[in-house]
Amino acid sequence: MYNSGHSIASNLFLTVVVGLLVGLIIGYPGWTLSITLIIWGLYQIKQFNRLQQWLMSNDRTNVPESQGYWGELFDELSRDQKRQQQRTLSLRNVIHRFQQSSAALSDAIVIIDGQNHLEWWNRAAESLLGMKVQTDRGRSVMNLLRDPRFVRYYRKGLYEDPLELASPIQSDIVLEYRITRFGAGDRILVARDITRLKQLEQTRQDFVANASHELRTPLTVIRGYLETFLDQELPKPLQRALSQMNSQSKRMENLVSDLLLLSRLEASAHVSDELPVPIHSIISRIQEDGLALGADKHQTISADLETESTLLGQESEIYGAISNLVFNAVRYTPAGGHIKLRWWTDKKGGHFSVQDNGAGIDSIHLPRLQERFYRVDESRSSDSGGTGLGLAIVKHVMLRHGGRLTINSQLEKGSTFTCHFPSDLVIPTPQEEQTEEE
Ligand code: ADP
Repeated sequence: MYNSGHSIASNLFLTVVVGLLVGLIIGYPGWTLSITLIIWGLYQIKQFNRLQQWLMSNDRTNVPESQGYWGELFDELSRDQKRQQQRTLSLRNVIHRFQQSSAALSDAIVIIDGQNHLEWWNRAAESLLGMKVQTDRGRSVMNLLRDPRFVRYYRKGLYEDPLELASPIQSDIVLEYRITRFGAGDRILVARDITRLKQLEQTRQDFVANASHELRTPLTVIRGYLETFLDQELPKPLQRALSQMNSQSKRMENLVSDLLLLSRLEASAHVSDELPVPIHSIISRIQEDGLALGADKHQTISADLETESTLLGQESEIYGAISNLVFNAVRYTPAGGHIKLRWWTDKKGGHFSVQDNGAGIDSIHLPRLQERFYRVDESRSSDSGGTGLGLAIVKHVMLRHGGRLTINSQLEKGSTFTCHFPSDLVIPTPQEEQTEEE
């Protein structure tokens, strides 16, 4: 920083000495000193005025020129001015490059401040989300993106999973919204056009659904003939071959029906009509079916059903999901094993779990276990007669009910599969309601 204190003092001292000397020579030291000090003071005021005028002027490019310490001060200010200009220029360059690159992006980017007001957005946001530069700056994001699902997603604040929604200005464009927090309560919203991806996904789903549907009829005919042949008196080798063909075609039939079911589940994201599901009696029925399935394994299946509450949803889908989990537990738990079924409710919703003390699953498989055809051990699964689609079906049933499936497992110790249903699908019994009110 510039320090002119020493120069001013020495300059004043020099002026006083010169004024006194001249005054002594001409014989009027008092007068001469006073006049010299007045001239010195007027000069300082003049320089100060120049500095003030320059500081207050709009155009600060021409720094005033001067001698001595005023000159040094003006030079320092001029250098500082240049440094400032350079910093502004490089900042402007960075902003310009950022704006250019973000404008070139095909994804919409929107910056939202802590009060949920739109602060800045790129060009793609105008074409995908319909934002207008002149009118929308400072408006609430929820005034512009009014879809209740977006508003709920935005307000909830849980942004780990993206939200898929049609564009507010072009309903045939599907967008994937992602929100990230930054700074003090600010958010950045990125909307990506996933229409093509969705179309491809739809083509794949349609193909699987059509292929499964077309395979069903020939399979039924083949099985019909095989069963007729098997009823006849046939030579032993032929009998064995035919019964193997029969069991394989039965497996194929199961596979086709699971594929069809999965396509149906994938066709829409949510169940259309939610009706009361007697969850208690469903679990009891499946408990009996599970015991029958593993009759020769002498397993125990216990059920701990804490409440009598009713679940809202699609009964057939929920029955399918629960039976898949229970039958898996029976299949993958050795003879003499124990299987525990549990249904309970809490503030988060309703939960159904199946716990077994079977073979368990290595943790490396857990993240992929709900994918279709993902199998831990190919030979073990084929032996058990599974299609490799069971858990994918459960996952989709849960998604359609706004819930999720969680898996906990340890090798050699056993597994717990839990279906979590959201609280808005659980109706407490009148008794429970009364205790809650109290
Ligand atoms: P699958 O028809 O092969 O049983 P699923 O989708 O139902 O297909 O299950 C996927 C895989 O998860 C199975 O192949 C099996 O290896 C594993 N698995 C499922 N349930 C259990 C369980 N209760 N105990 C151990 N492994 C299991």
